[in-house]
Amino acid sequence: MSRIIEIDQSITVSTLAEQLELPAASLVSELFKNGIMITLNEKIDYDTASILISELGIDVELKQKEQDVPVPKKDEDREGAVLADRPPVVAIMGHVDHGKTSLLDKIRDSKVADGEAGGITQHISAYQIEHKNRLVTFLDTPGHEAFAAIREHGAALTDVVVIVVAADDGIKPQTIEAIRFANKAGVKLIIAANKMDKDAADLNRVKQGLAEQELLPEDWGGQTTVMPVSAKTGEGIDELIDMILLVSDVEELKADTRGPAAGLIIEAHMQKGLGPVAVALVNDGVLSRGDFLVAGSSYGKARVLKDSNGAEVQQATASTPVTISGLKSLPEFGDDFHVVGSEKEAKKLASSYSNSQGARSSGMTSTEMLRIISKRTSVDELNILLKADVQGSLTSVSDSVKGIDTNEVSTRIVGSGIGAVGESDIRTAAAAGATIYCFNVSVPAQTIRLATQHDVEIKSYTVIYELIDDIKAKLEDLLSPEDITTELGTLKIKGIFNTTKTEVICGGELLKGKLTLPAKARVTRDKKQIAEAEVGNLKKGPTDTHEVLEGEMCGLTLVTESKLTLEEGDRLELYRVETIERSL
Ligand code: GDP
Repeated sequence: MSRIIEIDQSITVSTLAEQLELPAASLVSELFKNGIMITLNEKIDYDTASILISELGIDVELKQKEQDVPVPKKDEDREGAVLADRPPVVAIMGHVDHGKTSLLDKIRDSKVADGEAGGITQHISAYQIEHKNRLVTFLDTPGHEAFAAIREHGAALTDVVVIVVAADDGIKPQTIEAIRFANKAGVKLIIAANKMDKDAADLNRVKQGLAEQELLPEDWGGQTTVMPVSAKTGEGIDELIDMILLVSDVEELKADTRGPAAGLIIEAHMQKGLGPVAVALVNDGVLSRGDFLVAGSSYGKARVLKDSNGAEVQQATASTPVTISGLKSLPEFGDDFHVVGSEKEAKKLASSYSNSQGARSSGMTSTEMLRIISKRTSVDELNILLKADVQGSLTSVSDSVKGIDTNEVSTRIVGSGIGAVGESDIRTAAAAGATIYCFNVSVPAQTIRLATQHDVEIKSYTVIYELIDDIKAKLEDLLSPEDITTELGTLKIKGIFNTTKTEVICGGELLKGKLTLPAKARVTRDKKQIAEAEVGNLKKGPTDTHEVLEGEMCGLTLVTESKLTLEEGDRLELYRVETIERSL
């Protein structure tokens, strides 16, 4: 029977060698043969270790240790929960330029007294306001980004989505997308018809557009709340917040006030003099100054807590954004955080979390994540998973890949890692419909088999620019081709010789321009278009021709979709459409 060895998600080469009772050098050289240049003290991930063992042909079965990573407790899991009302968390979404930022700013400015908290109000990714003695939390990362990113992490943090529609512009593609998002997420939705101060504002048009999206406004007998506002003048903003509160009251939003706090990191940055600073949204419990916490692979003591106005606070309760300093390193956007009993415990949990991520960490920063998510909603994407031999080359490959994005098409890196392509890479790629791009790493035969089974394409390169060229070519395929229309001229019909269901043979004079094939025609009578046709054949006298010049007479066949009764004196506006493949 084979010997079983348990390892974490990743392990150093020397520790693995010890456990396998093999000389470390033989592991290093086997890895080298697989294109992985690594030293004894560097870590390889579980997949790479499994492949290595199978390549070495030794009778050892590798198992992955159960991870001791804390999972945030949901309300129902928390014993003896004490549920209390909590403020709603609101995200603002909508089409670009419809006024999301202006609305967020206006709400904040009108509700936060100037000069509070020593005057310096740092702009953070969420803020809380007080309205009629009640609190409301706004996610201040306008657009789909925050919302989608937070949803990506499975935490249903957003209670209400306000979709901003400029009343002078109406429903636009991103509005529809936002509506879909909100519906899919099952959150409450309020429409803010913005820019009502403008002369061109037309509330009815907004309502009409909503009705077309199956969101019938309340005053038209439906269920969709439409609030007219102006982020410029402040008109309707109080009413909008009243409505947010009303809608959330129906939801009876509750949180457990008892016990250690848990929540989500929504921003992290380094700040001069303070070191790593994280902005978190508390989900449950109460976060107090001095608490020990773990957030992903980061941990520390909450030395200073500040509210969204920058004022120091002793505690933060549910649905409250709070800035935390005192963490030893930067957590990542989207990490869950939990308060634990001691620094030692926090450290242990953080390091077991890093091990679980280990060599496989995709190292995604919050900006990158936002970028990816925001793009995913609006452009065509090529999903890719990158593997490289060493960190340096992984970084340069992924930087170069990011450099070729455009507004219309982009790459989305669904995962990346160092070392051979393993089973979990195949699974990730299969789930995301991604192509795996390898740089200087080999692909073991068993992985190739698995990839074939899962229909995952693996492409290997040893030269970066060849890899990039290939990705570029794939992105170009995603660019929708462009139709270019060229006007060719005008022809006056002077005779009709034969008409069938799909063809008219006729003759006429080219009044202006130059007619060459292929060509299409808009058939007009009294300056009104009556049909579309294709010019099938062109004759000068009895002979076929490819070119008719201004002032010349010609005969032609018009191919139509349905029967066209042409009359003398009708005109043909001749044009050509060329479809051009675009390049990056
Ligand atoms: P976002 O892209 O949705 O965040 O839109 P912005 O908040 O950046 O607003 C886009 C433009 O519309 C800016 O020039 C704003 O000044 C303007 N704008 C936003 N809200 C209003 C409003 O209520 N009335 C008027 N007149 N202009 C507005």
